[in-house]
Amino acid sequence: MILFINFDNLFILHSKTNLMEEKQPTVEDWYKAGEIAAKVRDFAAKLAKPNALLLDIANQIEQKILDEGAIPGFPANLSLNTIAAHYTPHINDQTILTKEHVLKIDVGTCMNGAIGDTAITIDLTEKYEKLVESSKQALANVTKLLQPGTTLGDVGKTIQETIENYGYKPVLNLSGHGLEAYTIHSAPSFPNYNNNNKQHIKVGQTFAIEPFATDGAGKIKEGQQPNIFEPIDKKPIRDSNARVLFSEVMEKYKGLPFAKRWLLSQKWNEQRIDSALRMLKANRNIVSHSPLVEVADGIITQAEHTFIVEEDRVVCLTK
Ligand code: MN
Ligand code: MN
Repeated sequence: MILFINFDNLFILHSKTNLMEEKQPTVEDWYKAGEIAAKVRDFAAKLAKPNALLLDIANQIEQKILDEGAIPGFPANLSLNTIAAHYTPHINDQTILTKEHVLKIDVGTCMNGAIGDTAITIDLTEKYEKLVESSKQALANVTKLLQPGTTLGDVGKTIQETIENYGYKPVLNLSGHGLEAYTIHSAPSFPNYNNNNKQHIKVGQTFAIEPFATDGAGKIKEGQQPNIFEPIDKKPIRDSNARVLFSEVMEKYKGLPFAKRWLLSQKWNEQRIDSALRMLKANRNIVSHSPLVEVADGIITQAEHTFIVEEDRVVCLTK
């Protein structure tokens, strides 16, 4: 997933603390989370063919993560064309892939709290090869650049220059992010442009870098109908329906982002789920993540890896 820079999300970035009071993941957990995320991303890339049902791909991604011994770090993000991120199929989603689609597959894993976060773009149109290459090359150039002490501004500069050299724009209001135990988005944020931030990356840090490139304006806005939700606060809930749903979600998904479709069961029909989610949102126990759409309807491509900073090197965990 991605950090969308608006007031609400920056507030969460600096205020959401680990909701899970469990032990910290080990370095091995981080390696394992990354390895599984990469394996599932490459598995998913093979499923992305014309006539495939998006909902089937999402289900297969999430099942594969469980089969590999992790849990989803967030719902499979399968975002098409002008949508940059945060689209996950809704209940009974009928979207079918065609040769008109540029698909971003963004996979998240969680291994004892350690997070793997990685993404790839599949161009079924065969018309956006350069645009796909620009975000991929930006990530490759950052991967080469990274070492203990690299500044956040230099990361952004490399991404911006690479994408602009292809004749496209980086998406300015989306950024990479720190990763912590059971937490997808933490400080610092890694810009996709040169913001001259002199802050250095430090030994022990884990983070995701995700260049987005577009032939549009280089900016995204929030779209309609969120299907991804995330707990941010365990404060008391008066409504019993909402209270039960929140405790089930915390138990099963460990405070990580979850999909509305995951909640469907005999006990929970869509209406009951919607009502509970509305209450939890109003009470600020959860936030929703809407699909993020390019403001000028530009096509968007994305590439993402997870990294860990060691004493003398920075390791890409999702190669
Ligand atoms: Mn991410
Ligand atoms: Mn991601």
